[in-house]
Amino acid sequence: MRYGVLGDIHGNLEALEAVLADAEKHGVERYLCVGDIVGYGANPTECVARIRGLTSQIVAGNHDCAVVGRADVEYFNLYARDAVLWTRDHLAPDDQAFLRGLPLSLLVNGLTLVHSTVHEPDLFGYIESALAARLSFEALQTDIAFVGHSHVPVTFFYEQNGDEIWYSQDAEIPLGDFSKAIINVGSVGQPRDDNPQAAYAIYDSSLRTVTIRRLPYDVEATRQKILAAGLPEVLAARLLLGR
Ligand code: ZN
Repeated sequence: MRYGVLGDIHGNLEALEAVLADAEKHGVERYLCVGDIVGYGANPTECVARIRGLTSQIVAGNHDCAVVGRADVEYFNLYARDAVLWTRDHLAPDDQAFLRGLPLSLLVNGLTLVHSTVHEPDLFGYIESALAARLSFEALQTDIAFVGHSHVPVTFFYEQNGDEIWYSQDAEIPLGDFSKAIINVGSVGQPRDDNPQAAYAIYDSSLRTVTIRRLPYDVEATRQKILAAGLPEVLAARLLLGR
């Protein structure tokens, strides 16, 4: 089975369409979503509709939660908070009910999906160190987890023999030799690893490989929509830089 794993779409329809066209070309049969469909971008409604049409295996991100009052915006920076409030005003009640109903973590065919961390999915912490990864590995009930949240693609490995944790930022990741892996699939709609191209992962369950794909898309169109919507200008500017 070839899975397309998408996260941190953030209302960026142009990036989402580029990713989906690539996934189809690469024989993706099933889609999984690690959250943050909305927030930052000007097309939350379109992105919710597109994702809902693809899969029911979706977990909630912190922006999805904040838009519908499931999480406090107090911890968001000013721009993120503005975008949350804008999105709340522009999303229909049915779409808000959908976001309200999303689980924080999900087990799908031996895979764990969660937006932030495995051990505290409701606190939206980041897995950015071996120490943070260890807490998630200890709570992980499956061999493989897919996460988002940092908008930086990275895979953490845990080897039971030797009790070792390490990470890789390679685009091609063979999982065969490791006890457990936590894969951050990067961000479709607002990459932050100094690469402005949209990111997602293809997981091939028979080969046990993960490939992080990067796609160019019409950033200028997305930028113009953000500016026309009256969203903070910085949200348009950062898309050019991938930051
Ligand atoms: Zn996000």
